[in-house]
Amino acid sequence: MSQRPCIVIVGRANVGKSSLFNRLLGRRAAVVDDRPGVTRDRHFREWEFEGRQLDLVDTGGFIDESLDPLAEQVRTQIEIAVNDAALVLFLVDARTGITYDDLQLARQVKRSGKTVLLLANKSERPQDREDRAELLKMGLGEAHPVSATTGYGLDGLMEKFRRLLPPPGTRRVADPRIRMAILGRPNAGKSTLVNKLMGEDRVIVSPLPGTTRDSVDAEFVWQGRKFLVTDTAGLRKKAKVRDDIEYYSNMRALESIRRSEVVILLIDSLEKEMPEQDLRILRQVEEAGKGIVIGLSKWDALEKDHRTFDERCKEWRQRIPSLAETPIVAFSGLTGQRVPRLLEEVIRVREGCRRVFGRDNVIEYFQQAATAQKPPHSHGRPVQITRCCQVTVDPPTLAFETENPDDVMESYRRYLRARAIEFFNLAGVPLRISMRTKLELRTDEDLARFGDLPAELVPPPTVTPAEDS
Ligand code: GDP
Ligand code: GDP
Repeated sequence: MSQRPCIVIVGRANVGKSSLFNRLLGRRAAVVDDRPGVTRDRHFREWEFEGRQLDLVDTGGFIDESLDPLAEQVRTQIEIAVNDAALVLFLVDARTGITYDDLQLARQVKRSGKTVLLLANKSERPQDREDRAELLKMGLGEAHPVSATTGYGLDGLMEKFRRLLPPPGTRRVADPRIRMAILGRPNAGKSTLVNKLMGEDRVIVSPLPGTTRDSVDAEFVWQGRKFLVTDTAGLRKKAKVRDDIEYYSNMRALESIRRSEVVILLIDSLEKEMPEQDLRILRQVEEAGKGIVIGLSKWDALEKDHRTFDERCKEWRQRIPSLAETPIVAFSGLTGQRVPRLLEEVIRVREGCRRVFGRDNVIEYFQQAATAQKPPHSHGRPVQITRCCQVTVDPPTLAFETENPDDVMESYRRYLRARAIEFFNLAGVPLRISMRTKLELRTDEDLARFGDLPAELVPPPTVTPAEDS
């Protein structure tokens, strides 16, 4: 997969970033959607806009808005956030007018050289649209009045999107490299694993065009396949525990997730409980539509017997239902034990993300699942689900046709998802389930075009010298 073009929403606190984010998704989030039961950190979603597959990023909550916008930390965060953007939406509050913080932020964003649209939000009342001249002070051109709450001005915004974004159907370049991010708390064993993976054929391929100043991607080859580990700089800076902590809460982890296809989340096996920060990462990965493999690190150091692993998994999965479908591998970065297994899982998950399941297989799955367990009645009436079809790849979505989607209980959606994961061997793949009143059937050929080539059709990567990246 190559990356999707990305729209990033920036602006100081309370200008309405998350309102706009939700508004945009609400209007157009038709294709993806519907993982029930997860509290969403709505910061980052894949978004289909008129046939274009995009990422939409809300920087609110990632950039520390309480800090002075001149602080080094904020500067770096902004840089990371807008770095990859195809388009930046810069929000100001039309009612309060321009503030010092707005001006400072604008200067930083301008420095990125990205295409920026200045949006004067909260402009639903005519009197808030009068002072257009003041907004020119921002130096970001003409401001577009919008209202995230009423939707005022959004049609005009869509028109801009149409002009500024790559046209739909632009073929993405198939990248045979498997992009993965390695995340985990300080001392989880990230650097040790990276060093093991890199071994002798460490190839540093960075700084890549379109990545942050100090973001370093590294490539390695395993069993004839190329892997790219995103943002190893975040891993190699040692003895900077504060940095590591920030790595979690800020844009950097998010960017690393966004730029990868599969995340390996490392948890120290000496931890009995699943750490809270890691749950947050899990949610973000899920939200972002990326694959996940959990690595229980330092397995060599744990006092254990043959039941330890199963008991640990069982306990976690009971407490955290979303882990039921997440692959867990206990390994040692130090000795190399089960490191190959970790990579095999990454490959399986990545292929699952891109797979075209095949029309006949989907029908077979649906018949089996629907026969084994019928949807629960709603308001005393039976619920009919008539058809099922894969409608997207990367991440894959299975859409189901039913008269009234609201009548399909969450528990049943979860059941359908769990069965699909079992049927298609998709543990760790962010499979989406979607209920629709009208299903537009997509052929396998459509799907293959819609995403990348299906994994089966991707020619096996040839091992080539470093300079081809
Ligand atoms: P963020 O901090 O930039 O993400 O801002 P939020 O989206 O959380 O919005 C901050 C406040 O402004 C909330 O109380 C919103 O309801 C309000 N708000 C956001 N957009 C609009 C708008 O278009 N018009 C009005 N009147 N209020 C808005
Ligand atoms: P990071 O902060 O996540 O990059 O963690 P490091 O890779 O620096 O590891 C933190 C500490 O755990 C170091 O003292 C490592 O030597 C140790 N460590 C990492 N991986 C293993 C492992 O597989 N087995 C054992 N016994 N120790 C490990």
